Amino acid sequence: MIAEVKNTATPEQLAQFVKWIEDRGYKTNVSGGDEVTIVGIIGDTTKIDPFLLESMDIIERVQRITEPFKKANRKFHPEDSVVDCGHGVLIGGGNFQVMAGPCSVEGDNLTQIARAVKAAGATILRGGAFKPRTSPYTSQGMGEAGLDLLMEAGAELDMPVVTEVMDPRDVQLFLDKGVDIMQIGARNAQNFPLLREVGKTTTPVLLKRGMSETIDEFLMAAEYVMSEGNENVILCERGIRTFETRTRNTFDVNAIPVLHHLTHLPVIGDPSHATGYTRYVRPAAYAATAAGADGLQIEVHNNPSEAWSDGAQALTPDMFADAMRRIALIREAVCADIEEA
Ligand code: PEP
Ligand code: MN
Repeated sequence: MIAEVKNTATPEQLAQFVKWIEDRGYKTNVSGGDEVTIVGIIGDTTKIDPFLLESMDIIERVQRITEPFKKANRKFHPEDSVVDCGHGVLIGGGNFQVMAGPCSVEGDNLTQIARAVKAAGATILRGGAFKPRTSPYTSQGMGEAGLDLLMEAGAELDMPVVTEVMDPRDVQLFLDKGVDIMQIGARNAQNFPLLREVGKTTTPVLLKRGMSETIDEFLMAAEYVMSEGNENVILCERGIRTFETRTRNTFDVNAIPVLHHLTHLPVIGDPSHATGYTRYVRPAAYAATAAGADGLQIEVHNNPSEAWSDGAQALTPDMFADAMRRIALIREAVCADIEEA
């Protein structure tokens, strides 16, 4: 349930109202925006009489939220959330960021790739140290040594890093290393103990959509993280599994505006995993940008044919630089204020 508070209410009146709700055993979430202040009421609100609340002087309107996701719901928090990724990098609410780097951290080539993607305009460095591989016989990543390399490159280039955490028991290691953004991969999209564990931290979480996850299930996964207290969640559409076999996944570009409609959380697109082939990554990146994504995640490798994982979908640094120039032009078109004729 949400209560819209009149903008004539004083801070004391608002605090009194919040106390009144909390005294009845509910949790609250106050979202103060320029236009309106929303008090979200969490718990079994069937026992609250909305007419009683509406009879209070400071309350404009009371609405039941019918969707099962509350904290992620835009009704709860009408303005876009902006997530602070560290190193001065903000995402969401008009802040567009590109995360780029290799699928796997492999060694010294990381610095070379990181320098190239930064020079092309990427603001966040990606690289997997703990890799979720379909086969247990393929490279599983460098593990802790990979995290160290990633953190060194991030420090050298003054860029936040994003890297995948697969096991709730590793979350503390990621915190100790100072990882800026913890990625939850598609294969762990509904690993509820993992979602809860990252939810207990304040580190931003990049939550990828599961391969067979509906948009509502995706939002409920975000709700798991947020219900533990961590509201720094960034959503990532990375393609879903369909009957199509010509691409690795099917990029659900629709999900970008649909998510923007339903949630205040930043939404990014990952055209690399969505398509699976280098030749399709750039067109899909342009589509996501044009659809209003708050950012992109793109895999880049200096020598794709030798990559430990996902070489088939990697852009070379030159291709990435070309993509970044075109993405900037698309952003200009999407964000332009055009006067009506
Ligand atoms: C990755 O980012 O390398 C990755 C494994 O992504 P996803 O979980 O989307 O497949
Ligand atoms: Mn990958």
